[in-house]
Amino acid sequence: MASIILDKISLRYHETLMASAGDLAEKVYHETVKEGGYILVVERSIPKADDKFCLVGGRPFKEIVLEASKKAKCIIAVEACASFGGIPKATPSQGIGVGEVGKGKPIINLPLCPVHPEHLIGTILYILTKGKLPELDDHKRPIMFFGELVHDKCSRREHFDQWNFLKDWNDPGQREWCLFEKGCKGPMAYSDCPVRKWNHGTNWCIGCGAPLTGCSEPGFYGEMSPIYSASLPSEVFKG
Ligand code: SF4
Ligand code: SF4
Repeated sequence: MASIILDKISLRYHETLMASAGDLAEKVYHETVKEGGYILVVERSIPKADDKFCLVGGRPFKEIVLEASKKAKCIIAVEACASFGGIPKATPSQGIGVGEVGKGKPIINLPLCPVHPEHLIGTILYILTKGKLPELDDHKRPIMFFGELVHDKCSRREHFDQWNFLKDWNDPGQREWCLFEKGCKGPMAYSDCPVRKWNHGTNWCIGCGAPLTGCSEPGFYGEMSPIYSASLPSEVFKG
């Protein structure tokens, strides 16, 4: 990953990764924005209730995003917050996704919480090598990463089909059972987490016993809440 950032991508501005700081860093930002033609990657939501909920260097974040998006080739919104508002959408700041303010610009949403690093690098490399945006779904997510229902690829699906729903976390016999009754939103979430997994394929949320939160979907967090309760009684699947 480091060699891609250092050798393949010209990373012009990033608060923590760039070598420069202060006035020099700001100079690079303004030069880049003036030049245009770049891929703008935005992280975090934009407060709808009041600009004051997010100020960067005293300036409203929304103003900076609008300024930086003007001459951008396209925008990539990373993680659930920048894509659809995420957790801040359910708070007094009423966060919204970047696509709602950057209208008119081609936008790619890469939700999940956090963004999957391979989704980000894969999307940037796709644009650079193919010269076009990847195919997107109705929520502007790349189909190559978000085209399949998590539930259809889940390692616990066999238990779902046999109505083995985990009820007691303390029962070792139920350890691998389906997490639907514990709030798993896998039947309504699209992502390649079950096959790609995280940390170089080490594990994923359901693999380590955490019900899927639905962080790939526009309704996350508010519409997926409560996270640890089933949205429907499991009996509805029993025919
Ligand atoms: S409900 Fe969740 S844990 Fe159960 S099979 Fe579907 S995705 Fe897997
Ligand atoms: S497994 Fe589910 S909750 Fe975990 S990151 Fe993927 S989509 Fe989000």
